[in-house]
Amino acid sequence: MKTEIKEKTTKIPGRKIAGLMTWFLVLIFAAAISVPAVPAFASAQIIFNPSVKNLPSNEEIFGWIKDICNFGYRRPGTAEDRKTVEYILKKFQEFGLKDARLEPINMPLWTAEKWSLSVNGKGIPCFYINHSYWIKEHEGFTAGPRGITAEIVYIGEGSEKDFSKVDVKGKIVLSDVRFTELYQSDSERVAYFSYDPDHTVAKGWRQSNPYSPNNFPSNFSRAAQHGAVGFVGILTDYFDRNTFYNELYEEKPCLWPIPGLWLSKSDGARLKEMLKAGSANQATLVLDGTIKPATAYNVIGCLPGKSKDIIMVHSHHDAPWASAVEDASGVSEVLALAKYFGSLPPEKREKTLMFVSLDTHFSMYQGHLDLIRQVREKNMKVLVDIVIEHIGKEVVEKDGRVVETGFEEPRGIFVTENPYLISITKQAVEKNHLGRTVILPTYTILGVPTDAGDFNREGFTIISYISPPQYIYDPIDTPEMVAFNQLNPVASTFADIIESMDQTPSQTVTKKWWIPKYRFHYYYQVVDYIVDMLRE
Ligand SMILES: [Zn+2]
Repeated sequence: MKTEIKEKTTKIPGRKIAGLMTWFLVLIFAAAISVPAVPAFASAQIIFNPSVKNLPSNEEIFGWIKDICNFGYRRPGTAEDRKTVEYILKKFQEFGLKDARLEPINMPLWTAEKWSLSVNGKGIPCFYINHSYWIKEHEGFTAGPRGITAEIVYIGEGSEKDFSKVDVKGKIVLSDVRFTELYQSDSERVAYFSYDPDHTVAKGWRQSNPYSPNNFPSNFSRAAQHGAVGFVGILTDYFDRNTFYNELYEEKPCLWPIPGLWLSKSDGARLKEMLKAGSANQATLVLDGTIKPATAYNVIGCLPGKSKDIIMVHSHHDAPWASAVEDASGVSEVLALAKYFGSLPPEKREKTLMFVSLDTHFSMYQGHLDLIRQVREKNMKVLVDIVIEHIGKEVVEKDGRVVETGFEEPRGIFVTENPYLISITKQAVEKNHLGRTVILPTYTILGVPTDAGDFNREGFTIISYISPPQYIYDPIDTPEMVAFNQLNPVASTFADIIESMDQTPSQTVTKKWWIPKYRFHYYYQVVDYIVDMLRE
């Protein structure tokens, strides 16, 4: 998304824009006053008097991250994933959590075993597109003993228009995959609050966004719909690497029935040059693998309080690789909080704390949906879901190399629209000096693109911490990428938030609000943004 206002002649007269915006705001105001009982911000009971001390040190939390990474590639449903859940379970028990347990979840485990690409007889380095070539839920896939040989055609970025110009039936499609860009100014524009006391986030800060769908996966889906027999995506906006373990983008199986492969941007550029104009270019693509029924596990444990009202704290332990930031870091923050609160006398606790490490972030979120179903069926009164992910360093690509900037990755905390929650989160962030942080609403077009997404959609109250480093789908996400000096401060921030919540009436924590000052600001920014786009 772009925010700079370009000094071009505007197609829309300024007066007309002002008129439109005034009308829009009048409409919003009318909507606001028609919302019944919008209480004044000041009437919310804001209690923030935490006495949090002595959370596990940076070293101790980092030790857990390294332990988790040592289990190997923690893909959901694998033996490495199983070792990880046993480790977390043991920690929960050690920290005195009650009813600590594993909850099994059935899932199909997609595993690639063999992949390659050659064009006009020349081998091209590649990596598989995760969860591609998925035709039947529990049936393996193979390109046959000799692979799939067909003509390869380049179709640009793979828009509908691009596909209308080329017949791809029976062919292998080569397409550039473009990422959108994240602009800090966009986050700050819609934030409840932003905190960067040392001014370390440059004004024009922006970064490639490898997580959200953009022209991928729609170009891949179009290739399949138009009868292509394979798809090769060039990671044009990524580091110069092909080991990109993409997410599934939707919570259902068999999205892409044809095989897919990734190329790095330099290999992709070379291949585009190599393709001979005016004559057929032959490619041979191999992708073989299995899809087997497997079991993933959520890990759950509780610290009962005087009431059964629950403050839930979660992260996810599954990952593409032996990933440190994604999300050994988040799980280790959950462990830090479990250890800290487990060491306090139970009579000090008003509410019940529930600690959860979820599986299946890299499958179809079956574990998340299973937990939501259980909460509903068992009538568990979960007041809030606190989610912690990605305590990572910021990196940039310089001269083809990935280099650290010396800062932690800028972060966001999504908070359900409730003045009490926004206020305690803000105070905890300031108290613990969590610089480079924006506190974000959950109602923007961005939604909640975190492990809390399903919970937010299902109406849970959430506080979800996340940062978006570009390397979290890549094996370069090793313990060196963890923002070591942020580990204790992040845990302390959430201990403060939890302690404050524990002393606050449950109805204040869960009450849903519509806060005019934030809503007006947000809608104003949306209109302003649209006007900017029209001006360009
Ligand atoms: Zn994560």
